[in-house]
Amino acid sequence: MDPDSLSSRVQIVSPSLTLSVTSQAKAMRAQGDEVYGLAGGEPEMDTPDHIKAAAAKALQEGKTKYTPAAGIPELREAIAEKLLKDNNLAYEPKQICVTSGGKQACMNAIMAMCDEGDEVIIPAPYWVSYPEMVRLCGAVPIIVETEEKNGWKMTAAQFEDAMTPKTKMVIINSPNNPTGAIYSREELAAIGEVATYEDIIILSDEIYEKLTYGEKKHVSIAEISEELQGLTVICHGFAKAYSMTGWRLGYTAAPPELAAAISKIQSHTTSNATSFAQYGALAALSGPQTFVDDMRNEYDVRRQFVHGRLSAVSNVSVNLPDGAFYFFVNCAAFGLKSQNLCDKLLNRYKVATVPGIAFGNDSSVRLSYCTTLDVLNEGITRFEEFCRDH
Ligand code: PLP
Repeated sequence: MDPDSLSSRVQIVSPSLTLSVTSQAKAMRAQGDEVYGLAGGEPEMDTPDHIKAAAAKALQEGKTKYTPAAGIPELREAIAEKLLKDNNLAYEPKQICVTSGGKQACMNAIMAMCDEGDEVIIPAPYWVSYPEMVRLCGAVPIIVETEEKNGWKMTAAQFEDAMTPKTKMVIINSPNNPTGAIYSREELAAIGEVATYEDIIILSDEIYEKLTYGEKKHVSIAEISEELQGLTVICHGFAKAYSMTGWRLGYTAAPPELAAAISKIQSHTTSNATSFAQYGALAALSGPQTFVDDMRNEYDVRRQFVHGRLSAVSNVSVNLPDGAFYFFVNCAAFGLKSQNLCDKLLNRYKVATVPGIAFGNDSSVRLSYCTTLDVLNEGITRFEEFCRDH
């Protein structure tokens, strides 16, 4: 087949670099290499038993048929209750759409809002898929560079400067992948004020909500005012907080018209998220939350461990992340392109990391700490060796 005959839509997007690093590391392991994986984006712990049991029970009971496209009513209600309890946000269950992962939540939201040529403002470093999703919808990603010294956060002034008459949406991801940055209420209020003035839709990706450390707490931009709730689509998921990456479960919470549009899109693309998996998600929200607290405490220990080690390396710089489970390490001193740097790290030092270019910053690498302390210890030791050798 002639590859040029593929749709122009697909020809302008690149494959996911994060997934490709992970599969490269897997292939090396299959050939007998010991590879220290600091590239992953998923907790290494297993899904809690009560969640697995609830899905297994649903399966046994024959809950194996189509559900409403936007999800089973009990789960939509439980999500609305969660948003009220945790975020002080009132939503009707009909404003919730259960999706096949946080990824589909974001894609649905962009597809429901953006037309050909619309502009979507994305602060960099960004999660790898946002610009590609925007392009797949025929819209144009407008990247706003943020700086390490400002905690990798977009200011309201930068947002305002990036706006044009074509701006339709802005994407805020807090806590952030890859930097771990968390926007404060004041910072969100300032961005929200600009968005409100021009009626810009805010896609607020809150998938790392539960992974915050120290004093910093997650705030949803939708909490700040009713007006902002009316402009925001929250994209969320079960993958990170409950270690349910393979279950493919997420959701959107949106103003009624947008929620209906999202459900309509989903009804013609994938229909419902897997029926029995939805019962697992219900148990995740309504059951004990000790798993989430334990995981957060455990990751805090690893975060401090890695930060202590990286801070002592003279030729890299790094912020202490406030959330998620990544370090975004500034490696500008090496003068290497980030892909080249990660290839060297993988092939010579057997450490898998993700090149910063995947997140729109070519002088950094992302190191994940959602892995065991043993792997982290050896992986960081090898990273230190790399830094000494360069
Ligand atoms: N949003 C962000 C910021 C992410 O990092 C990820 C996954 O890595 C997702 C969304 C998608 O999550 P899911 O696995 O639920 O599709």
